[in-house]
Amino acid sequence: MSVLVFAEHTQGSFKKKTFEAVQYAAAIAQQMGSSTTAVVLGNVSDSAAAELGNYGAQKVIVVADTRLDNLSARAYAKALAAAAEKEGAKVIVASHDVTGKAVAPRLAARMKAGMVAGAIGHPDTSNGFVVKKAVFAGKAFAFVNITSEVKVITLMPNTFAVQKNEGTANVEKLDVAFDDKDFGVQVKEVNKVTGTVPLAEAELVVSGGRGMKGPENWPVLEALAGELGAALACSRPVADSHWRPHHEHVGQTGGTIRPNLYIAVGISGAIQHLAGVNGSKTIVVINKDPEAPFFKAADYGVVGDALEILPKLTEAVKKFKASHN
Ligand SMILES: Cc1cc2nc3c(=O)[nH]c(=O)nc-3n(C[C@H](O)[C@H](O)[C@H](O)COP(=O)(O)OP(=O)(O)OC[C@H]3O[C@@H](n4cnc5c(N)ncnc54)[C@H](O)[C@@H]3O)c2cc1C
Repeated sequence: MSVLVFAEHTQGSFKKKTFEAVQYAAAIAQQMGSSTTAVVLGNVSDSAAAELGNYGAQKVIVVADTRLDNLSARAYAKALAAAAEKEGAKVIVASHDVTGKAVAPRLAARMKAGMVAGAIGHPDTSNGFVVKKAVFAGKAFAFVNITSEVKVITLMPNTFAVQKNEGTANVEKLDVAFDDKDFGVQVKEVNKVTGTVPLAEAELVVSGGRGMKGPENWPVLEALAGELGAALACSRPVADSHWRPHHEHVGQTGGTIRPNLYIAVGISGAIQHLAGVNGSKTIVVINKDPEAPFFKAADYGVVGDALEILPKLTEAVKKFKASHN
C-alpha cells in the first residue's frame, strides 16, 4: 500500500506545485507508515522523473504514452486509476489546479473514493481522516472527514514551502490500454506564455486592480515589476475587461499565490480577491481610499494616487539597487 501522487509536468519539466504535491503525499505516507509513489503521464526523461525523489517519492511510475503529453481528463483518470490499483493506493493526491480539478473528481468517481478539493492542511488521522479546506472564499474553514476506503485530495498550490532533500526514487514504466473513447476531448493548441516570471512560482508580485483606470496605465506597473524582477497579477474585473490576460487573475476564481511580497495597487481587497493572495508573506497596499478593505490585510499601506506613487516607488527601487551594486 502506498500514497499515490499525480506529478504533473509541462513538456518534461516539473513546476513547484508538483514538488509541493509530492512532498505533501510523502508527509501523509509518513503519517500512515506507508510509502510514496508518484505517477507521471506522458513523456519525461528518467532523470527528470527521478528528481521527484528529492521531494519524498520512493517510486515513480511513468505512463509514457505520447497521447498523454496534453491533458485528456478521462485518459489521465484511467491511467492514474491503473497505477493506484497496481500500488494498492489508499490515498491519492493531486494539485488543485486546472488539470487536477479536471482529473481528480473523475478519478474519485472511478475509484468510488471520497474527495476533498483544495486541501490546505495535512490530514488529521487521530480520529478518522480529517482534511482542512477553506470555504466561503477563505472566510471560514471546513474540516472534512473522508470515510471511504480510497481517498482523493487536491492540494491548494502554494500552501506549503517546498524543501528539496537528498532522497532518490526508482523509475518504472507502466503500460495502460487506452481506447479512442478515452481521448474524446483533445487539446488542439497550447499557447505558452514566455519571457515573464511564472506567477504561481514568483516570490515578488505586483498586482493591479480597477483603480489603475485602464490598460494604458499598465506600463507604470510593469516598470516597477521590471525593477523588482516581479511577476504581474491583477484582479478579476481587470481580466474580465480584457485589460490584462486571464492567467494574471488571482483570487477565488483565479490563481492562488503565496509570494514573499505582494504589492496590490488600486485593488479594493474584496474577499474573493484576498482568497488568492492572503498567504503572501508581506502585503503592501497602494490605494487612494484610506477605508479600502485591503488595508486591513496589509503589512504596509500607502494612501494616494497609484499613478503618482508608482513612478516614485520605481525610482526608489532603482536608487536602492544602484547603491547596493
Ligand atoms: C463568485 C465571485 C468570484 C470572484 N472571484 C474573484 C477573484 O478570483 N479575484 C478577484 O480579484 N475578484 C473576484 N471577484 C470580484 C470581487 O468581488 C471584486 O469585485 C473585485 O476583486 C474588485 O476588483 P478591484 O479591486 O480591482 O476593483 P474595485 O472594487 O473597483 O476597486 C478599485 C480600487 O481602486 C482604488 N482606486 C481607484 N482609483 C485609484 C487610484 N488612482 N489610485 C489608487 N487606488 C485607486 C479604489 O479606492 C478601490 O479600492 C469575484 C466575485 C464573485 C461574486
